[in-house]
Amino acid sequence: MFASVRAVSKPPVAIRRLAGIAVVVAALAAAASIRPEDPSRLPPTVILVSLDGFRADYLERYQPPTLLQMAEEGVRAEYLQPVFPTKTFPNHYTLVTGRYVENHGIVANTMHDAELGRFSLGRRAAVTNGAWWDDAEPIWVTLHKAGVWSAMYFWPGSEAEISGVRPALFRPFSGSTPAETRIAWVMAALRMPPEDRPQLISLYFEDVDTAGHAHGPQSDEVHAAVHSVDRYLTHLDSLLHGADLYEDVNVIVTSDHGMAPTSSDSVVLLDNYVSLDSLSVVDWDPVVALNPKHGNADELLVALERMPHVSFFRKESVPARLHYSRHHRIPSIIGIADVGWRISSRAYFEANRQRFDGGTHGYDPASPSMHGIFLARGPAFEAGTLSAGIESIHIYELLCAIFGVDPAPNDGRLNAVRHLLR
Ligand SMILES: [Zn+2]
Repeated sequence: MFASVRAVSKPPVAIRRLAGIAVVVAALAAAASIRPEDPSRLPPTVILVSLDGFRADYLERYQPPTLLQMAEEGVRAEYLQPVFPTKTFPNHYTLVTGRYVENHGIVANTMHDAELGRFSLGRRAAVTNGAWWDDAEPIWVTLHKAGVWSAMYFWPGSEAEISGVRPALFRPFSGSTPAETRIAWVMAALRMPPEDRPQLISLYFEDVDTAGHAHGPQSDEVHAAVHSVDRYLTHLDSLLHGADLYEDVNVIVTSDHGMAPTSSDSVVLLDNYVSLDSLSVVDWDPVVALNPKHGNADELLVALERMPHVSFFRKESVPARLHYSRHHRIPSIIGIADVGWRISSRAYFEANRQRFDGGTHGYDPASPSMHGIFLARGPAFEAGTLSAGIESIHIYELLCAIFGVDPAPNDGRLNAVRHLLR
């Protein structure tokens, strides 16, 4: 697996060393201490873990022991409020840029750009094209400018060259990669020689989101997935202990959004209200984004506003608190389903009815069901602190403060999260 690790932004000597990373992984079995001789020389180091779709109330509801232990040792916010739309790619990019979606340009998981064409999660040519991403500066570019390396495992945006920079280490997304492999990669990065060692290392697990979509947030399957990811974190902790690094490394565990229960009884069908020939739908559910094919948007809106359980807006009139008007990739009409409602076409719904029983996300981020988690422990963080809910736009500023680097322009404020830091 390590053969395809690429290092674009580093000097040749570093590239040669990275090639040796597989050897380092093998050496892990020996569990040798990798703590530097002088621990005070370990520069600020953060492992940033994203648990996709981990809803705020899962911590109380499902009682994952390692995560609760982490909250006791460090800081825990009551919830992390994501940005609109509460989807995976827009929110992961907000976490690392501090930008609202209308300012970073990843306006949905599926979007259209007049010059770049179509973007969707499965289109590798789009996901790896920096032109989609370079409206904002992600933390790994900010750190690179300060001479600090990053290793981003499966983080949206990390496969593209942005402002001429890639993370020193990254991996093309592969959902079948076992958790143990992902964690071994993190430990291998930590074991690199000091001059090459990444100080920001990310990790991503999708289990909880997958179970939430299939079975809904209150299900045995989500319960099991929460405990699976909790065991991954137990494993990470034990490796950090084994390497004598547990006290020196900051670990942040967060999520991109929550999950709302949905049912095939709560679906509105767009073509019951307008002819699908009259519009082009860029994204469907539960936020429908569309452009009129001909005629004007006002006429179309009159028809669309008869649809129950969906609030339609012209792009310019989306409520200001959602920060979803400015970007040219946002289509001219946006319809936001009430929490728990879904949007489809007659044909798709009839062929895929069972897909609507379970859960989804994308709704208004003010809904508690869309709230994610924020937990952190390590030398940078207060111990045993429970914070009120925080907004995800502030996390980029928080990371910059930990690393002592100047943030790029962004929508967050350090003052909103400074109380979490020691
Ligand atoms: Zn999802």
